[in-house]
Amino acid sequence: MANDNLYSGDSVKPVSVEVSNGEQVLEIEWADGHKSIYPLFGLRKNCPCVMCRGGHSEMGTYEMELFYVEPTQHYEIEDLQTVGNHALKISWNDGHKTGMYRWELLRMMSPNKE
Ligand SMILES: [Zn+2]
Repeated sequence: MANDNLYSGDSVKPVSVEVSNGEQVLEIEWADGHKSIYPLFGLRKNCPCVMCRGGHSEMGTYEMELFYVEPTQHYEIEDLQTVGNHALKISWNDGHKTGMYRWELLRMMSPNKE
């Protein structure tokens, strides 16, 4: 897995964040011009909270391949909140809302090749 510190500065500052539940994607445009489009299924499955990551020993382990598979479940985002200037908190329609996605993590996870 890539080093969390790989991205810094403008590459982890979002200029826009848009959700399309209809198209099942979250789109982030970054200050350096890169655009990331995350299928919601992969994003939900890679929720960074302790519960989803299966405990502290698994923290930092993500399944990037889930961004590329055919979704087996339909997820929708009900609410997005920025947390300070370092993270995005996502509330899902399955009631899960403890996931705080740091911008560095989102940039690292970007399914779109740079
Ligand atoms: Zn979670």
